[in-house]
Amino acid sequence: MNGAFSPEESFARALDNADPLRPYRDLFWLPRRPLSPATGVAGARAVQTDALYLCGNSLGLQPKATRDAVIAELDDWASMGVQAHHLGRNPWLYYHEPLREPMARLVGALPHEVVAMNSLTVNLHLLMASFYRPTAKRHKIVIEDDAFPSDSYAVASQAAWHGYDPATSIVRLKPRSGEDTLRTQDILDFFDREGETVALTLMSGVNYLTGEWFDMPAITAAAQNKGCIVGWDLAHAAGNVPLRLHDWNVDFAAWCTYKYLNSGPGAVAGAYVHERHARNQAITRLAGWWGNDPATRFEMGPGFQARPSADGWQLSNPPILSLAPVRVSLEIFDRAGMTALREKSQKLTAYLEFLLDRITNGGGRHLVQIITPRDSKARGCQLSLAVAERAREVHAELEREGVVCDFRAPNVIRVAPTPLYNTYHEVWRFAQIVDRMFRN
Ligand SMILES: *Cc1c(COP(=O)(O)O)cnc(C)c1O
Repeated sequence: MNGAFSPEESFARALDNADPLRPYRDLFWLPRRPLSPATGVAGARAVQTDALYLCGNSLGLQPKATRDAVIAELDDWASMGVQAHHLGRNPWLYYHEPLREPMARLVGALPHEVVAMNSLTVNLHLLMASFYRPTAKRHKIVIEDDAFPSDSYAVASQAAWHGYDPATSIVRLKPRSGEDTLRTQDILDFFDREGETVALTLMSGVNYLTGEWFDMPAITAAAQNKGCIVGWDLAHAAGNVPLRLHDWNVDFAAWCTYKYLNSGPGAVAGAYVHERHARNQAITRLAGWWGNDPATRFEMGPGFQARPSADGWQLSNPPILSLAPVRVSLEIFDRAGMTALREKSQKLTAYLEFLLDRITNGGGRHLVQIITPRDSKARGCQLSLAVAERAREVHAELEREGVVCDFRAPNVIRVAPTPLYNTYHEVWRFAQIVDRMFRN
């Protein structure tokens, strides 16, 4: 694909003009340039410019329609009180239900296999409560070594909760020495060799640090072949890469909705449970009244009857004010469609890769190394850049230039051009800024 790119600004403009998803950018609020103390001078200027926002992997931008959607619920609460549960324009009693189908399309699940509830780490724990059932022979949990810390804490505490020592029960898969990302074959070989001691694997679909998209169907099949339960953390995958959870036979999964799914800080998360488990009443769920069959929920009896769907894992009645932004976001994803989004995403990221690969310092040295896999089938939109020198200062300088991207010590800068609201010209501008910094 790279052969088709050219470094001129006019080329970026032409790509934007030909981009069928271009109108979607106008559905979002674009933040202004950062106003941190380091950049206060820019803040004092009379006219501020838009930031160059490449941080949708961390917090997606706010759709303009979100404010009205939240205010509509506040208004219904004000004018109807408790009656809005039935009479609101989006009755609260069933509020999470219309989210089910678009959420299912997004992750490739059947509608009754998904539910919007809680937050991500909470969902991981609730799902592990059902699906991590260690025995003396089979108590290990597999995770990738550079997993997001919350996931590392969650799996270690689950092992300890069941009386196992995390030091021996948690297996952290590491890349080969000198390499940044895991090789699929090494992961498959691991399960072949040691799968019989593994109770659960809980890797992330797309790794937050390296941007590596694991071969989810192959890993799921290899682990299940040895009798392991397979869960995936899709925080960096949902809304970023196409997923087929049901067809891949994934046992369970969870994801947040504030990254690529643009539903706001701390937004309500998603969960998936394969229907063969969701229908199985013998599986223990940590129960609450919202997981009970709605037909008998308000009989208020003591006996729990799980809903035969992912809904059966719900505990509480959902936070309507926090679900409203999820609803808005899913409508946007439904309209744009993951196929079109993925197509643009691959091109946008390949273009960024093309431009960054051209950048060298005066001595012809590449000071920015892309550690994300080069194969576009093994990544989403994010590129992780290992900066050879002065990484922290490079990041601070990017911020001064109005770029919003993030830094992970010791030397990784993550940039995520998202296909919904980023443009080819923004990618071009980012590369210009980096180029200028390394030439000086
Ligand atoms: C962002 C992220 C989290 C955050 O967890 P919350 O419970 O939403 O705070 C957890 N795990 C992964 C892999 C993430 O990328």
